[in-house]
Amino acid sequence: MIEPVEIFLASRNAKKIAEMQRILGETLPDLRVLGLDDVAPYDEPVEDEPDFAGNALLKARAGFAASGLPSLADDSGLCVDALNGMPGVLSARWSGPPKDDARNNALLLDQLADVPDDRRSAHFISVVAFVHDGGELVVEARMDGRVIREVRGAGGFGYDVVFEADDRPGVTTAELSREDKDAISHRGKALRELAPKVAAALM
Ligand code: IMP
Repeated sequence: MIEPVEIFLASRNAKKIAEMQRILGETLPDLRVLGLDDVAPYDEPVEDEPDFAGNALLKARAGFAASGLPSLADDSGLCVDALNGMPGVLSARWSGPPKDDARNNALLLDQLADVPDDRRSAHFISVVAFVHDGGELVVEARMDGRVIREVRGAGGFGYDVVFEADDRPGVTTAELSREDKDAISHRGKALRELAPKVAAALM
């Protein structure tokens, strides 16, 4: 039997916090995910690592050091084959600061304008790190698909409006229900893999 437990997610993004709560909650119903706005302020690290795992660990370690709570952090992004894996860790600010999803999508479509349909493959990656007093865990998962030629759909966030997953051809991930995206997404897969490991670590 697992006691009710609080876990800290080093993020201010309400959608991300709700997503973690929802997916981890399937395995850990008594878990409560706290975000950055629920703990005392601290100096957040600059995400300057060259890969997703480095950035996720950096954030989870800082979160654990500051909050003392078992801490999660994720780093994710879109890797486009025709752009040699970019935007990758630069996904959030691909078109420069401040972060703007619409501007990022417009730039990406422009950069791929001359790339034929059969060379538009891409994948999302999610790395989730978990740091607690018993050690560290890192899981990574991906969602394969392709970048289409226009913006389509009203759900999701980020690059969802320009991405079709191989598992759901013909619609963008912005046109999927939240549950359906969770079922196939990089973050959904990573969190479902992590959940039993977090449960074991907290017991
Ligand atoms: P992070 O918050 O630093 O992990 O930023 C990841 C960036 O990658 C986001 O701002 C989005 O641009 C993109 N991204 C990551 N996951 C997704 C997704 O599921 N759909 C659409 N875009 C995503």
